Amino acid sequence: MIRKTFRPGATIFFEGQPADCAYIVERGQVEICATRDRTHITLATLGRGEIFGEMAVLDDSVRSAAARATEETEVLIIRRDQLKRRIQEVEPVVGQLLGSLISRFRQAQSGLLNDLPGRDRGTANHLVVSAPTGGTERGESALNWIHREHDLERGLGAGEFEPFFQPIVTIAGGELAGFEALARWRHPDRGLVPPCEFIDLGEKSGLIRQIDLAIMADACALLRRTAGDRPLPFLSVNLSSQHFTDMDVVTGLAERLAMTGFPADRLKVELTETALVHDPHQAYEVMCRIKDLGVTLALDDFGTGYSSLSYLHKFPFDVLKIDQSFVRALGEVGRTHHIVETIITLARRMGMEVVAEGVETADLIRPLRELGCTFGQGYHYSRPVPADVMGGMLDR
Ligand code: C2E
Ligand code: CA
Ligand code: CA
Ligand code: CA
Repeated sequence: MIRKTFRPGATIFFEGQPADCAYIVERGQVEICATRDRTHITLATLGRGEIFGEMAVLDDSVRSAAARATEETEVLIIRRDQLKRRIQEVEPVVGQLLGSLISRFRQAQSGLLNDLPGRDRGTANHLVVSAPTGGTERGESALNWIHREHDLERGLGAGEFEPFFQPIVTIAGGELAGFEALARWRHPDRGLVPPCEFIDLGEKSGLIRQIDLAIMADACALLRRTAGDRPLPFLSVNLSSQHFTDMDVVTGLAERLAMTGFPADRLKVELTETALVHDPHQAYEVMCRIKDLGVTLALDDFGTGYSSLSYLHKFPFDVLKIDQSFVRALGEVGRTHHIVETIITLARRMGMEVVAEGVETADLIRPLRELGCTFGQGYHYSRPVPADVMGGMLDR
């Protein structure tokens, strides 16, 4: 249950109740209140876009006040794990700040409730501590975020994500060698949604791990089934940096390889250098375990970000994928041309295969061939296509 409606006067939670979720007001009005010596104290009145019930979840305590709908109210529920993940992801300084704000809030709250002025038994008072707020810009964007995350989770559960396939072709002979699987979201209302509209959200919500493995498993199954008795092209899949912080992805990949019967030595995993910067030692360990499965590793998007050459010899990469921004420079005269030339030569000497990304025009093929680049990928050969179109490429 992700959304709940409360009638006017209904209690959302009681004081002292254990807390396993927080709420965002979608519609209506919520009163946060406590009762001390028969005095009803309104601590806050909240409107659309405002969050409540988060404190007890964050410090694992019971509810220190009650929440009540003052009119017909609809709330969205944020589970404990969803909330905690967001907190874990923030910068350490921000996390620290949050911790100290929570403890100050707790002190202020208990002080307030214990030293109420002029408590007079017998006369049931009504005391309002804070003025109503709500409808802020930040509140709207929080609502929007939670809606989009719920939609992503729903889409994942409904199997709306599917791989498209883009051919990877030999530069020397122009023959099909493999495919890169690229995620697409077949959304019931929005149509075919490209990754630039959901990868970021997937990473912020942590759902990217499930998306990546779902795409990988589908692509393995589809390619294997489509190829049938014909030689099986290799398959390259993208893994988010988040997979490289623990070993879960190793079992995840192994399970799906077994499930689909896809041969491990035909699978390549693409990762970018952002997977390596946070915790290089851990990333290195994960990479080695993936290689133990028989899967090969490709460094994606080389030429964007830091593009440190030291990654090439410090990490066990088998393939280097040169980003389209670099590949484009091969069509021009100038210094970038020499840089790309040097990178390809270096990678080849280290025994790596090199894939040029974003090969949009035929004139790039000659320089790539002269430089000894192994594979090309780009609109010149083909755009990413759905599985049924991919089948037609296997006989060419
Ligand atoms: P990427 O891994 O660098 O994938 C290549 C992107 O370049 C793809 O965009 C592809 O359609 C596009 N492309 C291919 N050839 C050409 C060309 O000749 N010219 C131009 N201008 N573009 C070309 P797409 O499919 O939109 O994917 C964008 C990015 O989203 C990918 O970049 C990758 O970082 C991410 N992504 C896609 N699928 C997945 C996935 O399953 N998991 C994860 N974690 N990320 C994914
Ligand atoms: Ca890629
Ligand atoms: Ca790339
Ligand atoms: Ca890219």
